[in-house]
Amino acid sequence: MPDICKLNPTFPFNFEINRSKRKSLVLYVKSGKVEVRAPRYASTKWIHEFVYDKKDWIESELARQKRHMKQRLVIADGREVTFLGKPRTIVALISPQQDVKVTRDFLFIYTRQNTPEKLEKLFNRWLKEKAMEHMTTETIKIARELGLEDRLNKVIFRKTKTKWGHCCQDGTIQYNWLAMMAPREVIRYLIVHECSHLKHMDHSKRFWQTVESICPDYSEHRHWLAENGHRFWSRQ
Ligand SMILES: [Zn+2]
Repeated sequence: MPDICKLNPTFPFNFEINRSKRKSLVLYVKSGKVEVRAPRYASTKWIHEFVYDKKDWIESELARQKRHMKQRLVIADGREVTFLGKPRTIVALISPQQDVKVTRDFLFIYTRQNTPEKLEKLFNRWLKEKAMEHMTTETIKIARELGLEDRLNKVIFRKTKTKWGHCCQDGTIQYNWLAMMAPREVIRYLIVHECSHLKHMDHSKRFWQTVESICPDYSEHRHWLAENGHRFWSRQ
């Protein structure tokens, strides 16, 4: 059983202490929770001092995570969602024929049941289809532009938690279809990034030079994705 350090005046947050065979203290702030991993015989004083030392950082990190959580996607009637970087208002309509249609300002979701789970499922299925069309075509185009089409094997889509894209040794490129919510230039950067891995399997200087050769503003797009990518994940 972990120790839970309940609110005390020194700490404006709770934290959990998990003891194990480890030799040093380490701190995690994840999903709004604070955890200290400590050696089995670490004194409470040592742990408290360690946490106290990082108090300001922990507080700002908790606030940042809370803010990000609020900014997360909600697929519901009247909410806003971006597609290719442009905001559209979701309109949920009851219909026996389930479908999703996008217009300049709206995203119509035709559904048999107007529940958050159902809307999200329909939205994801649609977004994945759009990604398969758009990102596959663009990947072939960009691989060709870089003279690397021979190394491209296939393009697959998965909703991975940690990465927007991935390139395997065998030339398979994988994308997270949620990227379709980003602006076109950002999606293009992501594709250029993965295609450049067909040549360099690392993030070396030569790799970034390849990226830059056809995407000169890459650092701006990379930054955008790091700052805004969390908005594409739903709260559920
Ligand atoms: Zn990479």
